[in-house]
Amino acid sequence: MKAVRDQPVWVEPKAPSSLQIEGRIAKATIFVPAIGVAVAVAAAISGFARPTLLELIMTAALCLVTQLGVTVGFHRLFTHHSFEAARGIRLALGIAGSMSAQGPLLFWVSEHREHHQKSDSTGDPHSPYLDGEAPLTGLRGFWHAHVGWMLDHASSAWQTSARDIFSDGLSLRISRLYPLWVAAGVLLPGLIAGVWYRSWKHAALGALWGGLVRIFLVHHATWSVNSIGHMIGRRTFATPDQSRNNGFVALITYGEGWHNNHHAFPSSARHGLERWQWDVSYALIRLLAAIGLARNLKLPSPGQIAGGKRSRRVDVGS
Ligand SMILES: [Zn+2]
Ligand SMILES: [Zn+2]
Repeated sequence: MKAVRDQPVWVEPKAPSSLQIEGRIAKATIFVPAIGVAVAVAAAISGFARPTLLELIMTAALCLVTQLGVTVGFHRLFTHHSFEAARGIRLALGIAGSMSAQGPLLFWVSEHREHHQKSDSTGDPHSPYLDGEAPLTGLRGFWHAHVGWMLDHASSAWQTSARDIFSDGLSLRISRLYPLWVAAGVLLPGLIAGVWYRSWKHAALGALWGGLVRIFLVHHATWSVNSIGHMIGRRTFATPDQSRNNGFVALITYGEGWHNNHHAFPSSARHGLERWQWDVSYALIRLLAAIGLARNLKLPSPGQIAGGKRSRRVDVGS
């Protein structure tokens, strides 16, 4: 009997659940760029490796391109269909948005549609006021809406809320090749800097600044719409959620900070509805339309905007 008791017991290894896998991917997505920023700043301050003008220009240029990929592409085009675009533009915006490392197009679209359908109520993936059924306030709410929601989130909305992405071959291919786009966004600036200076050190600096630092900056700009955009700012329209218009968030997200306007008129290609509300993303859509690469821009009429401001409750759906 003793021999039997002493025998090691074979326990079938348990496959990680989708919650665990998504949690690991989320941790890598959030913390690897943050570690990259810490390394880049420490190397620069200590004088060990400072970025050159070329590396800083690539960082700024890729911030612009990938952020617009998210705001104009992922958000206004693929999620809300606020305009139609030529196939080449859809492909370019889909790849640029994917390079921001905010998840595959299919995930991004479905989670954002869930946010609009259940905004600040049960089922909203990233409300600063609710985690499941549990109420949140203050900094805990900010953390949950900004990044915390991704750490314990099993995504299933893609099965129901993004059928148009599934049925569109181009969108589905962009989604499936997501790891390739993220890798290209890190390796490309490294390759350019490495070849330009014929130096491995500059290849690493290019990848660090144009890749990881740039991803970190675009991440936190975009995520501030989910957190600050539902916490701080004016509510011009009495939408059923807590969305806000915030000029600073609009500045760092190329117009997405006019988030109360957006919740009032989700399918509008223009988020800055007043003349003074800067909206770089809408300027790009207008430019694309002017040269024939975008069409059928959806915009609320002046009467709808005025009526929305007068209304005690605006609920126009997505
Ligand atoms: Zn929102
Ligand atoms: Zn939206």
